Amino acid sequence: MSKQEIEEILAFYHNSSTQDLARRADTVCRMNYGNAVYLRGLIEFSNHCHSDCLYCGIRKSNDKVVRYRMSKEEILDAVRMGKDCGLKSFVLQSGEDSFYTCDLLCDIIQAIKEITQGQAAVTLSCGIRSKQQYAQWKAVGADRYLMRFETSDPDLHERLRHGISLKRRLQALEDLKECGYELGSGYMVGLPGETEEMRVNNALLCHKLQLDMVGIGPFIPNQDTPLAGQGGGSIEMTIRAVSLVRLLLPKANIPATTAAGSIDPQGREKILQAGANVLMPNITPVLQKKNYLLYPDKICLDEDGLKCLNCLKYRVLSINKSISLERGDSLGIGMKNGLCE
Ligand code: SAM
Repeated sequence: MSKQEIEEILAFYHNSSTQDLARRADTVCRMNYGNAVYLRGLIEFSNHCHSDCLYCGIRKSNDKVVRYRMSKEEILDAVRMGKDCGLKSFVLQSGEDSFYTCDLLCDIIQAIKEITQGQAAVTLSCGIRSKQQYAQWKAVGADRYLMRFETSDPDLHERLRHGISLKRRLQALEDLKECGYELGSGYMVGLPGETEEMRVNNALLCHKLQLDMVGIGPFIPNQDTPLAGQGGGSIEMTIRAVSLVRLLLPKANIPATTAAGSIDPQGREKILQAGANVLMPNITPVLQKKNYLLYPDKICLDEDGLKCLNCLKYRVLSINKSISLERGDSLGIGMKNGLCE
């Protein structure tokens, strides 16, 4: 995409109503993905975290959290259930938890590949680790990695991530890219101190990184964090952000996030009509998922994975799209070069 094309998209973004922006993004999305909405089975396997991000409900300092770790067998049971429902893509997400050593995660990745006869994509989302660990997980079969940069503003990033610099996060994303992962990142909208200029820069950073996947969700203040009582992101802000990113990255996989569904009962449908093409049913066992509380009023907490899946099918049909059980690999140009030493 040329500099001039990017400028035209930004001009359109600034001068258009949210409805017009969403309509254009939806057209671009349908040109690339038709009516398909890909599913990723999300397993939130640990809520232990050694980070202390100011916005996050599972931050280290929140002593109200009931902490849990799923065993390898519990994780594999969730995968089996998802596989029986036809899922071919699994996302393993956790806090930054070194209990899951490089070897343990290698074991789990290999077992998932065996259970799914190599047919399912495995996505990891466990935060910042060494490049060597990323390379080892890739070598045993991990396909994709998700790690949001959260905000592209270096000062805001360092403040909200309790001292961890944006530079370090971007270095980790670079490491992942060099290891050959399909690369996912993204950000929250409506963080305290965020400006419209930052929101545009967030979208431009996604383009600069040539991401294969982009997760964008509203910031939702959590009462048990230092950001309690602050304002959060709105559904309109989220629609505008997703639409802009779809225009800048026509081929990226973009989920309609749970956070969007948590601030608006029709939030995910609205985002799927504004450029998104992915949903992530939460297949974490009910016992654990109710303790993965990043923010209040998170949806689907008392539903098991199967119920979650059925609900999503109806939601997708209601907007004239259809669920695809394909792996939904990236059509993008992201990471393709370079191998890890
Ligand atoms: N540890 C991994 C990492 O740092 O990438 C993954 C887990 S982290 C809890 C997953 C995502 O939750 C973060 O990237 C952040 O964008 C989102 N999140 C955390 N707190 C949130 C909040 N209060 N509102 C909305 N999203 C939130």
